[in-house]
Amino acid sequence: MAFEKVAIANRGEIAKRIIVSCHELNLKTVLLYAKGDIQQEAYRMADERVCIGDSEPIHSYLNISALIEGAKFKGAKALHPGYGFLSENSQFAKSCEDNQIAFIGPCSKDISLFGNKMKARKIAQKAGIPVLASEKISSKDKLKEKAEKVTYPLMVKASCGGGGRGLRLVNNLEELENIIPLVRQEALQNFNKEDIFLEKYLNQAKHIEVQVFISAKGEIFILGDRDCSSQRRHQKIIEEAPSLLPLKMKEKMRELCYKFCSLMNYRGAGTLEFLVQGDKFFFLEMNTRIQVEHTVTEMIYGVDLIKAQILTALGQAVFLDRDLKAQGHSIQCRICAEDPHQDFLPSIGPLLSCVWPLGQNIRVDTGFQQGDQISSFYDSLISKIVVWDTTRKGAMQKMKQALNQTIIFGIFTNISFLNFLLSHEDFIKNQIQINSLEKIHKNWQTNSLPLQKELLESVFKELQSSFNRKGLKKRSFNPWSDFLTNKEE
Ligand code: ADP
Repeated sequence: MAFEKVAIANRGEIAKRIIVSCHELNLKTVLLYAKGDIQQEAYRMADERVCIGDSEPIHSYLNISALIEGAKFKGAKALHPGYGFLSENSQFAKSCEDNQIAFIGPCSKDISLFGNKMKARKIAQKAGIPVLASEKISSKDKLKEKAEKVTYPLMVKASCGGGGRGLRLVNNLEELENIIPLVRQEALQNFNKEDIFLEKYLNQAKHIEVQVFISAKGEIFILGDRDCSSQRRHQKIIEEAPSLLPLKMKEKMRELCYKFCSLMNYRGAGTLEFLVQGDKFFFLEMNTRIQVEHTVTEMIYGVDLIKAQILTALGQAVFLDRDLKAQGHSIQCRICAEDPHQDFLPSIGPLLSCVWPLGQNIRVDTGFQQGDQISSFYDSLISKIVVWDTTRKGAMQKMKQALNQTIIFGIFTNISFLNFLLSHEDFIKNQIQINSLEKIHKNWQTNSLPLQKELLESVFKELQSSFNRKGLKKRSFNPWSDFLTNKEE
């Protein structure tokens, strides 16, 4: 399908990232933005903009008809959904298809198929990929028997869940009976479907994922793996590529992923997620969108996955100019607006000061700058710092240097905890498992400096009130001089 203008149904760093790739392909962009987002970098960089509603996502980034109308109004014949929001919503993709807008991603049928974890597992099994013991739960009867078949501990999962929601760990029947209505409700509220299933819980596993890409012509590219085991509350905070799994296991995974891809007519970027425990690996799910952590794969393969997605929607070839061999090691840290001293409670307010790191092979994907507001309506991710080096050790060193150069003032961030994690013995030895961070975080909390936190809090308060008095005068606002002037007043 031919198009010259791409609508972007997202915000923050990914909106900016998509605009950059579109511009490299000489395509115009239309940012579909929510009312509160006019200060963002993406707003300035887009060629055109349409306000699609109020800040609350339900009125904007989750409002299918507003997004479609916005794209049509500006004559955009293609739309990139980014990640999160409606990126894996088959109804949204279908609405784009019905309105002759190329959805930059797989077709609505494939999104619907793979969006259902139970259905995706069946395809994985067909390809010979091992899956964990699981049981579908349709009513209360046989719950006890089904749970005993799976064996405790187990996870209650919403079939259509995502983003760490619709997912609970249970250890016994009593917990299970209490949790089931909650997960059903969460599933209904967030995903409009209440199907749930039980899955064996692995307590010493690593989260490994494989990036796949299928071109418009159906060529299958397996772009290596990523280790995303550093998670808090089932959400990733540090990702790296490649993983350090034994080569034999990597080869087997690669072979099975290739088989999985060849069983379908899927097009574009996809991620197959696995849990790895000991010498075994198990399929978890397939994500049908670009992942937040696609960057580390880009760094080691030297490719632009967003560009590849757009070219695929245009029916054009991808990666022809590349020797698709991974080189070196890449690490990404997610800089989130949250307070690690308060169990990662989201932190909101104006970004009073914001200095990002610089250096060879240091990449910063952010949609925010000094003066922007971090709002409570959205995810806490404010930036992704990505580094590359020839070795993992070099990449870790570079990341620490990059984090030390990063200064964010006005809101709390997880930078100090990320720094601690990077220097932790388990991380250095590649022994982080999906539940390791709970313990590591507890340790850090007791040993970190509460005094430092108190001091920061009082300085933030002072700066914020000075900032509010002066309004959102970007660039001209210098928190340091303002802070000092106020002190002298
Ligand atoms: P989502 O679609 O919300 O991302 P996933 O099924 O991918 O949900 O699970 C998210 C995270 O939860 C995984 O990365 C992993 O850390 C954890 N998890 C999921 N299933 C299991 C399991 N069976 N055993 C242990 N941890 C699991």
